[in-house]
Amino acid sequence: MDPLRHVKPAVRAVKAYTLAARRAPVKMNQNENPYDLPESVKRGVVERALMRPWSRYPPFDPRELVQALAAFSGWRPDGILAGNGSNELIQALLLVTVGPGTRVAIPEPTFTLYALLTSMLGGEVVRVPLGPELEYDAGALRRARRESGAGVAIACSPNNPTGSLLAAAEVERLCADGDGLVVVDEAYHEFSGQSVVPLLARHENLVVLRTFSKAMALAGLRIGYLLASPALVREINKARLPYNLNFFSQAAALAALEQRRELESVVRRLVAMREETFEALSALPGVRPYPSRANFILFELLDRDPKAVFESLFNRGVLVRDVTSYPRLERCLRVSIGSPDENAAFLDALKAGLAETLA
Ligand code: PMP
Repeated sequence: MDPLRHVKPAVRAVKAYTLAARRAPVKMNQNENPYDLPESVKRGVVERALMRPWSRYPPFDPRELVQALAAFSGWRPDGILAGNGSNELIQALLLVTVGPGTRVAIPEPTFTLYALLTSMLGGEVVRVPLGPELEYDAGALRRARRESGAGVAIACSPNNPTGSLLAAAEVERLCADGDGLVVVDEAYHEFSGQSVVPLLARHENLVVLRTFSKAMALAGLRIGYLLASPALVREINKARLPYNLNFFSQAAALAALEQRRELESVVRRLVAMREETFEALSALPGVRPYPSRANFILFELLDRDPKAVFESLFNRGVLVRDVTSYPRLERCLRVSIGSPDENAAFLDALKAGLAETLA
């Protein structure tokens, strides 16, 4: 008797996406916004939720939210799909495009969910290494896509966990080079000053993914959205689960959109602190930060054991992300940009940790 033999081999073969459950006073491991929405805004969402029966399903199509997202993003409402986090939309997108043998071009290292889902769906991951400085190699991506006949190409821009951006002009070249889908995950676009949404009007094979989990400060309520041509959105919508977005999250997303000016000023502060943190890290001997256009910084420890430094930061109350299991990042950690106090606590803990761990 082996019930597990009924699980697909492609599923048995992959490692689950997990995050070790660690708690620390200074949490800088998930690229969240360190500033919560104001309590008055949160109360408004609760009030709105109290006015409606919780025993009833949310709207089948979250029309009000989609309209607001259209106004916010500058793209047509019939080309927008809202989801329970952008993760859900990544899943829906790959469900309708990837089957046994489908090739998916994925830069490496990047957000691991893309390769995980592609493998579970029976697709073949075509890994495209980033350049020597962990920057995007647009030429390599174009070549890999063409040579493998990939049906889908992925680019997280800015990339997680490296922070590098794929220039909009390169995205456009990719889109023009065949009809394979080009998926640009803009989870961190607010921190980068670049979006490829304006390209949607010219390229029907472009798909853009966005989230409310980072700049929009709503990671706890799971809201994401996908933008593409209406014809493509109609197909991806078939894989979206009915009532995927609960009414509470819909109301919270609308409230966050109303706060956009305040959120934009938070983003400007976080970007300024990212640059300060980058300078501070660059000044530390044995530490090499990579330039980032997102709300986190990847840094390499040239002469220390990164796992020892991770533990020493943790022992000082600072939780960062251990990314040493990613290809090419064996010596790296990733830190999210926090509040000024958190960033200072991180830098102090890192200096102490470097002094404590042996070279
Ligand atoms: N895409 C990228 C590139 C990410 O880094 C993340 C969050 N780690 C996601 C998507 C998932 O975001 P969400 O919370 O919207 O599911």
